[in-house]
Amino acid sequence: MDRILSHIKNKTPSLCVFCDANSHANKLVCDICFQDWYEHSDFIHWGDILQFSSAKNSIEASGLSSVYCLAEHQPPFSQLITQYKYKADRIAQSALSQIIAAAPPKLPQFDIISAVPMHWTRLSTRGFNQAQWIAEQLSPFIDAQLLPILQRNKRTKRQAELDAKERKLNLQSAFTLNKDYSVEGLSILLVDDVVTTGSTINTIAQLLRAQGAKQVSAITLSWAKLDHE
Ligand SMILES: [Zn+2]
Repeated sequence: MDRILSHIKNKTPSLCVFCDANSHANKLVCDICFQDWYEHSDFIHWGDILQFSSAKNSIEASGLSSVYCLAEHQPPFSQLITQYKYKADRIAQSALSQIIAAAPPKLPQFDIISAVPMHWTRLSTRGFNQAQWIAEQLSPFIDAQLLPILQRNKRTKRQAELDAKERKLNLQSAFTLNKDYSVEGLSILLVDDVVTTGSTINTIAQLLRAQGAKQVSAITLSWAKLDHE
């Protein structure tokens, strides 16, 4: 953990962010670390976590058909996401991009892939929407059109600070379908960075289903199990 943080801090892109080793071919996660992580039990490899009983009990997914997920939200992977999301760290961002390209998802076809939107005031503070970036990284591997079908009307409180009941209230009327798009009869894949309770993606899924979407699934980089928080 400290090694990763110090590498990111010191901006030493020639070293593997997981193990210190000199990395070849400009890889930020060396082949040995990637293989080790890939074979580790927290690596879900874009499986549908709704198939796991532990997720079924803790994730709100009444509007969702599947929730595809790369890995559990555990260090060192979770640190890459945090460093990118909150510190705009480019090395962490590049390492995530490398990981996605090295282990791309193999999913059924969707009509549209779309990121969970960020409110414009938060976007102007942070400068980027990490979910949109992830959608752009995934898009070449997924048979679907990447479109900004959603907008966020309300600057909601940070979901991480709230319990499940508060999350639900916080999200009510936060999202709408962009008036330029129709989802009638279409299958939609929503993209977010981390899923915890699923309240955000499920709220959007319910909205899209109410607008006539045939099917809504979600894809996220990591799954933060509630009992790990
Ligand atoms: Zn390594």
